[in-house]
Amino acid sequence: MNYLPPSPAKDGDTFTFDNSYARLPQQFFARVEPTPVAEPWMIKLNKPLAEELGLDVAALEREGAEVFSGNRLPAGAEPLAMAYAGHQFGTFVPQLGDGRAILLGEVIDRNGTRRDIQLKGPGQTPFSRRGDGRAALGPVLREYIVSEAMYALGIPTTRALAAVVTGQPVYREQILPGAIVTRVAGSHIRVGTFQFYAARGDTASVKVLADYAIDRHYPDIKGDARPYLAFFKAVTAQQAELIARWLHVGFIHGVMNTDNMTVSGETIDFGPCAFMDAYDPKKVFSSIDQFGRYAYASQPAIGQWNLARLAETLVPLFDEDEATAVEMANDALGEYGAIFQRHWLDGMRRKIGLQSSEEGDLDLVQSLLSAMHQGEADFTLTFRRLCDCAGAPEADVAFSALFASPLSTASWLNDWRQRLSRETTTPDERRAAMKAVNPAYIPRNHRIEQAIVAATEDADFSLFEALVDVTAKPYEDQPQFAAYQTPPVPEEVVQRTFCGT
Ligand code: AMP
Ligand code: MG
Repeated sequence: MNYLPPSPAKDGDTFTFDNSYARLPQQFFARVEPTPVAEPWMIKLNKPLAEELGLDVAALEREGAEVFSGNRLPAGAEPLAMAYAGHQFGTFVPQLGDGRAILLGEVIDRNGTRRDIQLKGPGQTPFSRRGDGRAALGPVLREYIVSEAMYALGIPTTRALAAVVTGQPVYREQILPGAIVTRVAGSHIRVGTFQFYAARGDTASVKVLADYAIDRHYPDIKGDARPYLAFFKAVTAQQAELIARWLHVGFIHGVMNTDNMTVSGETIDFGPCAFMDAYDPKKVFSSIDQFGRYAYASQPAIGQWNLARLAETLVPLFDEDEATAVEMANDALGEYGAIFQRHWLDGMRRKIGLQSSEEGDLDLVQSLLSAMHQGEADFTLTFRRLCDCAGAPEADVAFSALFASPLSTASWLNDWRQRLSRETTTPDERRAAMKAVNPAYIPRNHRIEQAIVAATEDADFSLFEALVDVTAKPYEDQPQFAAYQTPPVPEEVVQRTFCGT
């Protein structure tokens, strides 16, 4: 692996880097610089995020195209591509790694949290295999839109700091404009990062990585008698909660390979992801997910499957006695289901306006979901309109109109109101609480598609800008953007999404 020294300080410092991954042993990464591009142009700088990161916003507004295209390395950057492996659709690939991403370094943000700054699409790395290391404009815009929407929804996620076009084409099934997204993450350590070393029988590196991840993400467990088991339990809890929260907003990740699952509990890799319109638990968008492995309702089980792969890498650190260690792993993994179910049901209770809990709540939630499924009701609008029903029964008409056979909702609404009568909140309080958890705006798939087409075919970024703006305040009624609430008309429906690799 080639070695490049840290770049010397230059004028126009924009980042205060404090790099720790670059200090890990050399088997963790390959040092590599971005490949310069022809004519970079900045699509968008995420100013609130830049401020949160303590960056020089004015300088980045001037020079961002150069920096976020990789044409000019900011002072203190120590660019590298991380090594990782992963199970892709169930098949283990011992070497994946950052084939089209380069970590510039880390900054400590205004809250004292260490954040990775990574370019996605900056050219080839030693992990590129046959890939060009580049990204097309469409996937860059999708990642920007969806990751920022997830953040605004309050769901742990990587962020998008900037998007640039490179002025160079990329060659996919078609020739497309090239682009680069700058991703910000609590870290880019994945289940697959652990698998990379475990697959090589390199337990020492697994331990180095686990210590690093504990330090960075779970410092409270450092003093634990069994820190590696505690680490595994912490990751399990984070992922169980994360996936429950995806389900609450109708999100389908689309490619939950172990290399796309973080140990920080952040959503990562917005390839073929999408939010569903009509509720269907079997819904799949990804063109490469032929057997529905990563369908909406399969996500919790896949999360546990991925965590089992993480456990396998950590077992040698749990206990010297293998049988004991395996039992510990199984016990910890066995807790996943209950943790997930608790988060999921708590969130569903809040979505239907319940603050107390009763035995029958699960049935009440499930009968709504099955009515939605049968009635092909829009997931987001069902819950948003239900907020108004909590205020006044006159809203029932608009709610019921979302279902293919509107009468099917009458008995459910009746059961729901009986249950609400045992709550202590007032109708107004209830409606406000429900509106704070049931978004009016999600980045609907057809809107993303329209934004991508306008940008790709006409260099028109106005739809992208509008979508980013409207999804930045997902829980607010924004009457001027009412059209962004509605599901697609039949000719707008997007059936398939693509990784874009
Ligand atoms: P993903 O589908 O984004 O999770 O990527 C899976 C693997 O393929 C990762 O190792 C990526 O770095 C690699 N990869 C995807 N697209 C490209 C590309 N255009 N050039 C090089 N490597 C790529
Ligand atoms: Mg990936």
